[in-house]
Amino acid sequence: MRTLVTGGAGFIGSALCEHLLDSGDEVVVLDDLSTGSLDNLSGVIEDPRLSFVHGSVLERDVLDSVMARAGRVFHLAAVVGVRLIVDHPLHGLRVNIHGTENVLEAARTHGVRVLLASTSEVYGKNTADRLSEDSDRILGSALLSRWTYAGAKGIDEAFAHAYATEYGVPLVIVRLFNTVGPRQTGRYGMVVPNLIGQALAGEPLTVFGDGQQTRCFSYVADVVPAMVALAECPAADKLAVNLGGLTEISIMDLARRIVSRLDSPSEIRLIPYSEAYGPGYEDMRRRVPDNTLAGRLVGFHPRTTIEEIIDRVAASMAAPVTSGSAGTHR
Ligand code: UDP
Repeated sequence: MRTLVTGGAGFIGSALCEHLLDSGDEVVVLDDLSTGSLDNLSGVIEDPRLSFVHGSVLERDVLDSVMARAGRVFHLAAVVGVRLIVDHPLHGLRVNIHGTENVLEAARTHGVRVLLASTSEVYGKNTADRLSEDSDRILGSALLSRWTYAGAKGIDEAFAHAYATEYGVPLVIVRLFNTVGPRQTGRYGMVVPNLIGQALAGEPLTVFGDGQQTRCFSYVADVVPAMVALAECPAADKLAVNLGGLTEISIMDLARRIVSRLDSPSEIRLIPYSEAYGPGYEDMRRRVPDNTLAGRLVGFHPRTTIEEIIDRVAASMAAPVTSGSAGTHR
């Protein structure tokens, strides 16, 4: 099987490429290296079964030529990270909406099966005990740039579903919940690499707001095999499927565990959202996945604990060769 991975030089994309190569695929990566990095692919770049194309999902001719060679596409390319989205909403909207439409159109033209990487952000401010795939979306004002990522990804899902329904494009959507792991950078706001980097450097850990907001972090090595299994699961056709982590944890608790686990001298500092992201920022108070569907379809049962995640991310950051790419699809 030849698989196209858009955003394959990103943090999740590169882990996906390694996994696909391990399972015998040929892999074509399309990445504009805006937030991804070739360093992320350093372990596989010499593999003759991997080819790298430097380009954007906004370039239709490039997309068309790589899609023509593929049997399936994992579409991960996106502008991600709260920092980038808040600072450059227009670019985010263009890449995240038009880029996805281009991918879907090229997939339709060449009869290629699509896995669309979406995000738990689509649920917005819904604080349900367990967000299931049909939970309501609760978004803030359309004029707040903070919500453009959730808005664009929601449109992407709708676009993809319409392509599947009206053109018969084979499709599965995965909604990723705060996927973390080695190679994710904190540069664009992601909390786990940010706080671990601060703890390792002995700097104050910056916890935004009151620190009582919660997340369920999932480990990239748990998520990637489930993505591939879903792409190969006929019962998942046209569905959106949550892939989230095990345990709900507040950001303050996360910061405390990082300090204690890494034996760091750092203090923990509360930073108002207005200072972190500018005025008018709205956070999600809580985001807890219901993973039942993924469990039923492909046996998804994430196992990596937050302590193991902290250890592995810290070990990768302390290693002599560090690489940076934006995390994708929180
Ligand atoms: N956050 C924080 N300190 C940081 C970066 C992020 O307290 O240095 C908070 C952020 O406000 C959010 C949570 O950590 O409440 C998770 O942020 P991230 O950007 O990783 O993902 P999100 O869930 O917001 O998409």
